[in-house]
Amino acid sequence: MNTDALAFPIYPYTVSGYSFGQRVRSRKILWARHLGDDIVVPNGTSVSSIGNGKVVWAEVRGGTKEKRNWGGVVIIEHVNPSTGLFFYSIYGHITNIVVVLNSDIHLGDPIGVVASGNTPENGYWKLAHLHFGIYTGPWIHKVLPGYARPFEGRTKFRWWQDPKPFIDSYTT
Ligand SMILES: [Zn+2]
Repeated sequence: MNTDALAFPIYPYTVSGYSFGQRVRSRKILWARHLGDDIVVPNGTSVSSIGNGKVVWAEVRGGTKEKRNWGGVVIIEHVNPSTGLFFYSIYGHITNIVVVLNSDIHLGDPIGVVASGNTPENGYWKLAHLHFGIYTGPWIHKVLPGYARPFEGRTKFRWWQDPKPFIDSYTT
């Protein structure tokens, strides 16, 4: 669905956790690149669609203490009407998802709320936060990742955009 404008999923949009492209280390892997922005906010903060689009993913991938995950994750497909190019907005670690798969959605429509930390819906991350990403690669009919590990081949870092400048500079 075409979108003539974009807005932020949460206001104020303050990147207070991992930022886009940040190299994240863990014990298991040397490093991975974070494919979005983490917005640390109180649980229950409302999350809304950044533009007009179609809901192509809405699921709870519950995390556990042993294996963290997305928790509630929604992906919306958008089209830039002047270029015809598709792009996708990804919202992770949310609960009370109110969108319906394959339905149209409009700029500012509610998607859900930020889930509490250390719950399955939050993916079992410590802090309540929204993980927000912009993907411009091909839609693969799978849930998209939050991290890109070198040599893994699951996604290409160049298919991901820095969300804030992408939204700030969006024109049609
Ligand atoms: Zn994140």
